[in-house]
Amino acid sequence: MSGLREVYGLSCPQCGRDSAVEIVVKVPARLTAHGEELCGESEWTPESACRCCSCGHTGDACDFMAEEAQ
Ligand SMILES: [Zn+2]
Repeated sequence: MSGLREVYGLSCPQCGRDSAVEIVVKVPARLTAHGEELCGESEWTPESACRCCSCGHTGDACDFMAEEAQ
């Protein structure tokens, strides 16, 4: 029953949910003539674009970190 708040310190500043967000990550990929293959760990920063899967609110990851206790 852990959510994003517990694991990543992230929750939606609009609806307060922390079940799922979409975030733009950087992942190294190996390009060959056959296409691309992801080959490393994904990375994101407080500046990464984020979207709440519950209400559709969008912002930077740092907006999703700046949660105030209610
Ligand atoms: Zn939301």
